[in-house]
Amino acid sequence: MSQFLRAKYAGLEAYTPGEQPRDKKYIKLNTNESPYPPSPAVLAALGREDLADLRLYSDPEGKELKEKLAGLYGVAPNQVFLSNGSDDILNFTFMAFGQDGAVFPGLTYSFYPVFADLHGVPYEKVPLKEDFTVDVAGLSGRGKLTVLANPNAPTGIALPLDRVEEIIASNPDHVVVVDEAYVDFGGDSAAALLGKYHNLLVVMTYSKSRSMAGARLGFALGSSEIIEDLEKLKYSTNPYNVNRLTLKLGAAAVDSDDYFRANARRIMDTRAKATQALRELGFTVPDSQANFLFITHPKLDGGEFYAKCKEKGVLIRHFSDPVIAQYNRVTIGAEEEMETFLQVVQEIMKEEGL
Ligand SMILES: *Cc1c(COP(=O)(O)O)cnc(C)c1O
Repeated sequence: MSQFLRAKYAGLEAYTPGEQPRDKKYIKLNTNESPYPPSPAVLAALGREDLADLRLYSDPEGKELKEKLAGLYGVAPNQVFLSNGSDDILNFTFMAFGQDGAVFPGLTYSFYPVFADLHGVPYEKVPLKEDFTVDVAGLSGRGKLTVLANPNAPTGIALPLDRVEEIIASNPDHVVVVDEAYVDFGGDSAAALLGKYHNLLVVMTYSKSRSMAGARLGFALGSSEIIEDLEKLKYSTNPYNVNRLTLKLGAAAVDSDDYFRANARRIMDTRAKATQALRELGFTVPDSQANFLFITHPKLDGGEFYAKCKEKGVLIRHFSDPVIAQYNRVTIGAEEEMETFLQVVQEIMKEEGL
């Protein structure tokens, strides 16, 4: 740390992204990326001219892409906000709406407390219930910015839409953010409730189901007033926050929407097989509606299991939080990748005499 950093940031604990190692080729099941490439339409969307046009700024309004997303989700274009990944939207959300503090589940996306700390927003964590589901009553009517990942991470468990609605309805004077990074893998989107609630902000990303994590594109759907607030912060930070190439790729992805939905179904099929296989090996695996599984085994230490998988060339995600130290999060890869992972699991169990 330099002597120049503002004192209020001295104690900030930054988010730790999943490893992106370069030392050898791993089967990468640690950051919930898609094993499949983006759609053929996305792959074909950019020509030399687009690269030549990089001399020009991107459209700060992202007009074309907003119109396409608005059409896809049945809202008006001024109800769509675009950003450089959805993390950026979450950042703006804490910055904009954290006046009275924030509340979110005790076990959820670990970036929320970082954004809260960054913007000096006091927050409260409501512990999950014993079965790892979200405590709806505990999150209802709290009179704060309320943030819910649905399906939740790292558990993969989805809350039914009527329960999500309870949380939104109980909090009319504060924004309720539903972070739907994983909704395309079997969850029900709260976008269906947008006509009914002016305090709802649904946050989505191209990073997971649309296979475009590297393009950095997220979007949010909400009332035109909430979107206007986010735009104000965006125009006070970085008006060109989505680059030209990504805007074009994002539009091509909407035009080929069926492609990513088919991939999501493939991932859901693979998930069902992997869940069953792991349960047969004695793992506890909650039913996941996301593109990952949250797994633990009564006779395998979570940290050691992670390290052994890595040694054998499979990267999964282990969290340092002591509450979940016995768990690992495993992204659903392609069929062959999951078969290899299951072989590795069996090898490890054999070595442990299980
Ligand atoms: C991956 C993820 C995000 C962020 O994705 P971006 O790549 O920044 O769009 C947001 N929320 C949750 C719960 C995630 O898992």
